[in-house]
Amino acid sequence: MLIDNHYRNINYLRLAVTDRCNLRCNYCMPSEGIAFAKKDELMSIEELSKIGELLVQMGIDKIRITGGEPFVRKDLMVLLRNLKNNEGLKELSITTNATLIGPYIDELKELGIKDVNVSMDAINKDTFERITRRDHYDIVYNNLIRLITEGFNVRINFIVLDNQNVQDIIPILELQKRYPVSVRFLEEMPFNGGSKKFNTIKWDYKAIFAHISKAYPSIQLIPSPKTSTSINYKITGHKGNVGIIPSFSRTFCGSCNRLRITALGDVITCLYGPPKINLRDTIRGDSSEYNIKRAIQQVIGNRAATGFEAQKEHKGVFDNSMTSIGG
Ligand code: SAM
Ligand code: SF4
Repeated sequence: MLIDNHYRNINYLRLAVTDRCNLRCNYCMPSEGIAFAKKDELMSIEELSKIGELLVQMGIDKIRITGGEPFVRKDLMVLLRNLKNNEGLKELSITTNATLIGPYIDELKELGIKDVNVSMDAINKDTFERITRRDHYDIVYNNLIRLITEGFNVRINFIVLDNQNVQDIIPILELQKRYPVSVRFLEEMPFNGGSKKFNTIKWDYKAIFAHISKAYPSIQLIPSPKTSTSINYKITGHKGNVGIIPSFSRTFCGSCNRLRITALGDVITCLYGPPKINLRDTIRGDSSEYNIKRAIQQVIGNRAATGFEAQKEHKGVFDNSMTSIGG
């Protein structure tokens, strides 16, 4: 087991496999993109697989693959197959924009990958294409429906953006009348390549809940797993749950069970804090498995208690783009 210095069990890894993406969501990246890493700066599939293997041996039992857009990496399926070979791994899941997943759906099913989070911040085509700055709505919608109808556990991640997609909150929930899909609304965080700075947000979790409960007075709080970042609800007659994630307000640090590794190998023990070590350099530096594990154990033994505390160590936290960190 991996236990941190605040007695939290760290069993969940968010592993970013690339910082590249084929969309340009305006809350995530500037339109011109960011300074993407060179190929040799990214971890190879062998390095990512090794890190996964060592962390599972240490107590990680859930891995979520993220990015950038994971499916821009042509060798992604090799990594997924390698990770699936780790006996102690109970859950392997993916967060994707669903533009490129289509050709891989059958193989994902064969591999037993069930949980897919689809980022979709609008159900209206024009709104979607304005936010993502690309005209991929139809393919995303078709892949979303295909994933749901083929039996994947699909959760839509919807970032609530003032003046952009608030009018889509209720219509996207209508999907749940036909399909078993959960929708999670997230507070926007100012991780967008430094183009925006703010200390408060209009659409915080309370405002999001007030908006939804006005349209659906029957909405009911339901129990959530202890480590859940979302506050979860059920609406009568809807086939999926509704979650609200206070990402900006940060009410969930006390039960944080997660570790992040960026595509460049930086280990982030709190989303709001600076990277602690670089595992790519550690691995390439010819370190033994023992030394790699010891380096991981050291940073886990030195985690900030809360995101607000971690942020004090990292003045430039919001200058990063989520495409580097992986969300
Ligand atoms: N490209 C994939 C996708 O969009 O699902 C995976 C990577 S993306 C960086 C992971 C998650 O981070 C997405 O759900 C995205 O909406 C979220 N994200 C990106 N920028 C964000 C921001 N400024 N505030 C809150 N969430 C953000
Ligand atoms: Fe790409 Fe995901 Fe960022 Fe959108 S949120 S630009 S899909 S990495």
